[in-house]
Amino acid sequence: MLDDVADALRCPICAGPLTRHGQALRCPVGHSYDIAKQDYVTLLSGLAAPGDTGAMVAAREEFLGAGHYDWLAESVAEEAADVGRSPRRVVDAGSGTGFYLAAVLDRLGPAASGVALDSSAYALRRAARAHPRIGAVGADLWRPLPVADGAAALVLNVFAPRNCGEFRRILAPGGRLLTVTPTDRHLAELVDLLDLLTVDEAKERRLAETLGDCFFFQRRSLRDRTLRLDHDAVAALVRMGPSAWHAAPGALAARIAELPSEITVTASCYLTVWRPRHSQ
Ligand SMILES: [Zn+2]
Repeated sequence: MLDDVADALRCPICAGPLTRHGQALRCPVGHSYDIAKQDYVTLLSGLAAPGDTGAMVAAREEFLGAGHYDWLAESVAEEAADVGRSPRRVVDAGSGTGFYLAAVLDRLGPAASGVALDSSAYALRRAARAHPRIGAVGADLWRPLPVADGAAALVLNVFAPRNCGEFRRILAPGGRLLTVTPTDRHLAELVDLLDLLTVDEAKERRLAETLGDCFFFQRRSLRDRTLRLDHDAVAALVRMGPSAWHAAPGALAARIAELPSEITVTASCYLTVWRPRHSQ
């Protein structure tokens, strides 16, 4: 529910605190943001990139709903529970459908609540009902986030854009950032079979460079799994993936039809914990 997290939010125009007045959140100056009937609110000071399309989000829900990434959600929840103090307020920057954040909140227990930030209205509608203690908020991850200074004990960032300075600003002293990033082996078989654009091998190095200004590296663990996927699962995985994959030839369905009825694909990610430079 948005009510669980309203105290962590701030006005995207004047940075003032937001309080609920009926079906809107308002700041003291009078900026007002309507709460959608699906219980999410969009906190933007202007237009933002539209984010994932309805088709991408539906594919994501289909693939995640089939359980293929349950092990990864469990790993993220395990790591979140292990970051030191038990985090009460979690902000998931680029939450998608809320799949990972819901697993984290389940693990952290009833005192924990989570802000799901995403730019896609389709994703937010699902995130808002992914867990009773999630508040779903439309935001542009490239701009100042509509979250108050020091409001988060834990920032999650799973396969999503990173806004280093803002992540640091919204973390409380002693808070941590947990990132999930693909290794160069992630979905490699699928990339080969379907001639998709490859995962950038320099990505992990670039991540370290972009976060280094604001965060100290604390620890990293490799999590991987062999997925056994039928044609429907392969199609969903491709459709939910990086938008660049949509540039693959229109013959994608035909290519998938030529695959064996079940293929094995490696999922391989790093879970990395970062400590903000402003605190211990
Ligand atoms: Zn305001």
